[in-house]
Amino acid sequence: MTQINPTQLPAGQWHNVPLSLPGAPGNSDAIMHAFVRRGRKAGPTLFITAAMHGDELNGLEIIRRFMRSRRLTSLQGTVIVVPVVNVHGFGMGSRYLPDRRDLNRVFPGSAKGSLAGRVAEVLMQEVVLKSDFGIDLHTAAIHRYNVPQIRAELENRVVEGMAMAFGVPLVLNSELREGSLRESAGQNQIPVIVYEAGEALRLDEISIKAGVRGIENVMTHLGMISNSRRTRLPTSQAVADSSYWERAGDSGVFHNLVKPGTYIKKDQLLARIISPSTMQASEVRASRAGILVGLTQMALVYEGDALFHIARYRGMHEDVANQVERFHEELGPDFGT
Ligand SMILES: [Zn+2]
Repeated sequence: MTQINPTQLPAGQWHNVPLSLPGAPGNSDAIMHAFVRRGRKAGPTLFITAAMHGDELNGLEIIRRFMRSRRLTSLQGTVIVVPVVNVHGFGMGSRYLPDRRDLNRVFPGSAKGSLAGRVAEVLMQEVVLKSDFGIDLHTAAIHRYNVPQIRAELENRVVEGMAMAFGVPLVLNSELREGSLRESAGQNQIPVIVYEAGEALRLDEISIKAGVRGIENVMTHLGMISNSRRTRLPTSQAVADSSYWERAGDSGVFHNLVKPGTYIKKDQLLARIISPSTMQASEVRASRAGILVGLTQMALVYEGDALFHIARYRGMHEDVANQVERFHEELGPDFGT
């Protein structure tokens, strides 16, 4: 297995470092490609990972654009990016590994463990433990859309600083999930934030633009690149106290009536579900007020399906919704459609 040794790489350019993984049956090794860039000046090491879930593609494009950023000429320290962590799942358009495991539940992994455990272990040893900070890029699961948002454990002050610096208006305080990259990195005192934006198997331009800008903002905050006039944070960012899913009360064809990122009032009509056996519509209403941060993209739903992810911001919903609207107007017109 090739190893990452940034100090041995010439500064000022990207280096493609292939990391060996167990191959598919009948094939030789699979390769996880890490790209490493060392600045001409010393500084911290930041990792950026994408496609931990193999069908989540926005992060790959975020990393591609980031790698071409002119602002990297002023880089202090080192960046290690991995555009596709879950190489096996990616090749199948699947969130999971071929052994049906979720890679983000098996960290820190083991060199003698399952396929998932071995992939996790390579990422841990070669990328995460060689870094001081990390950003893990995700999208919503298949057939769901997430408004660009940061999820982070905000009790940790360093994590909170990175989460706010990223600069998207929605921040959700989220506990560490057992077996996640974020948890394992945190146990090694490596602060990690998760960016969740867009939908699996699709590219979403606003999510991509906000992601590239967010990474640059965090690097500015960490002193890794010099400040830019383009660095503009929302005037206020809101941290959600809690969030909930509004579910389908009926099975049928789903007609959504609300836009992602908007303020939802208690009892507001969110959707209608048409039953093909009665040709009658049933209503979906909000049980509580909040901001719509994620929603299903499926037109066919089953009773009990999660339809709308609504985050609750104490007493400032209209402000938050205005922030989200301004943020998205700035980045582009076709948001969440
Ligand atoms: Zn994911």
